Amino acid sequence: MTPMAGLPVEQVVAARLRDVPDFPKPGVLFKDITPLLGDGEAFGAVVRDVARRHTGSVDIVVGIEARGFILAAAVAFDLGIGMVPVRKSGKLPGQTLSRSYTLEYGMAEIEVHADSFQSGQRVLVVDDVLATGGTAAATCELVESAGALVVGVEVVLELGFLGGRSRLGARRLHAILTL
Ligand code: AMP
Repeated sequence: MTPMAGLPVEQVVAARLRDVPDFPKPGVLFKDITPLLGDGEAFGAVVRDVARRHTGSVDIVVGIEARGFILAAAVAFDLGIGMVPVRKSGKLPGQTLSRSYTLEYGMAEIEVHADSFQSGQRVLVVDDVLATGGTAAATCELVESAGALVVGVEVVLELGFLGGRSRLGARRLHAILTL
């Protein structure tokens, strides 16, 4: 693989994303981050880039199932803070708070453990891709309903043409790469 050293992080991301047509269903161009995760230099560059924007200004990192977990855990580790998983319905063993939201076709529900946050805690939400924004918006609402404060949403890739950013309202979204 080509060395990534010295490249701006958005170029690193662009070089390590793989397009998979018609996955998981016909007509969807899936943006696969596994080549990025598999390259230690690229993965490290992305994690450090996200972490440095939030050093000292967040208390906990939320990862969105499933690929968001990988990134959020690494960012939390880099920042020396904890990580909270937001999961699809029915996966968390303890008492949960839940949120339903609309997908392109149908509905989805996500959950978080009800005792995940302390009141007023500053939360960074992390995921791989922002598409329609429904999942990230529901995650922010869930965090806020638990009494915490979303100080930022970080994604590796924003599919800008889908307009998902508007679903987040005034919350701060940063994407390393926007298409
Ligand atoms: P959204 O439409 O923003 O609610 O996206 C829902 C979830 O599906 C996000 O957590 C993304 O990780 C994932 N996702 C949606 N569209 C894509 C895509 N084209 N490529 C990769 N992941 C996607």
